[in-house]
Amino acid sequence: MGENELFPTSVVGSLPRPEWLIDGIEQHERGELTDSQLISYYDDAVRLAIKEQELTGLDEISDGEQRRFSFLAFVAERISSFRMISATELMTPEARKFVDDMNLPIGIISNPVIVGKINRTAPLVADEITFAKRYTDKKVKAPIIGPFTLLINSWNKVKSGPFYPTPEAAFNDLTRMLREEIMALREAGASFVQLDEPAIGNFVDYRYTRWLMALNQWRATDMEELRKISVELINKTIKGLRGIKVGVHICRGNWPADEAHLSHGGYENMIDEILEMNADQLVLEYATKRAGNFDVFKEHPWEGEVGLGIIDVKNPRIETAQEIVSRVRKASKAFEFDKITLNPDCGFASGRPWPVVSRHVAYAKLRSQTDAAQMLRKMYN
Ligand SMILES: [Zn+2]
Repeated sequence: MGENELFPTSVVGSLPRPEWLIDGIEQHERGELTDSQLISYYDDAVRLAIKEQELTGLDEISDGEQRRFSFLAFVAERISSFRMISATELMTPEARKFVDDMNLPIGIISNPVIVGKINRTAPLVADEITFAKRYTDKKVKAPIIGPFTLLINSWNKVKSGPFYPTPEAAFNDLTRMLREEIMALREAGASFVQLDEPAIGNFVDYRYTRWLMALNQWRATDMEELRKISVELINKTIKGLRGIKVGVHICRGNWPADEAHLSHGGYENMIDEILEMNADQLVLEYATKRAGNFDVFKEHPWEGEVGLGIIDVKNPRIETAQEIVSRVRKASKAFEFDKITLNPDCGFASGRPWPVVSRHVAYAKLRSQTDAAQMLRKMYN
């Protein structure tokens, strides 16, 4: 990866959006900015995100996901088979119980719901990569939503039932759409496609899983069956694809700021599924204490690459390079050091409404990551 063979540095995806972009989006919503004016705001924000990432010394960058409302919602922004529907509109008595138990900020939750036969009517993100590649010589990675996280959020019995009577009935069309996108990303010159799968991370305690199933009126499914479905969907999506690296990002969710809402627990809770995934890279959280320790990968080695999360994206305190180095040295007892890429735990702003740290903090954290990589290369070369 790049000229740095050992400990290459990357990101998971999103960067906090500039204030002026948020203002522009709000002006557009009020009809004070035209579509083409807003697009020029987005273009500027992406060029800035690229430049900032280059200045931090990253080997591989993203477009900062500046154009996406969130890592999940963008599907409905691009593909007409999906429509954003608020949780309030989908609410069921069963789901209502979870809202109270989990203290969910229900007013801001909405999901891209399947409202027609799934067809890739437009690029999901391939045009984002084409644009970014015009402004950088760095490798550009493309985070996209993973098939399981998309399905559990998008198949709703009432809204999707007329087109797909069961979630299973949507497997083929949904994975075909993502496969077509991955091939388009390969054409656009992406270095790496990352399937975002926080819904697999939620297997640590199933709280969020059960809430989504209640909201979308899935039939009572055995959790073991659901785990099998998650692996089946990922392997079906990437089967036989050549010429592009594909990874799976498993985290425990990244919003809202209050970590009490988020899942806690280590990768031992989903290790069987992880080992069955035919991915080139696992993109893992390891900076947050919610993610557990490395023991499980010492007992059950993962042979592929690891995108090792060593930056906490929710804590504004900037990690020192020395701290990062010691985290990586601990990890190297579980993963082969020459297969480790350094990255933050997750995106810095997975959704526009909930950036967690400021832009300058994200920048400083990525600088520390680069410094740590340089120290590690001296140690391990
Ligand atoms: Zn994440």
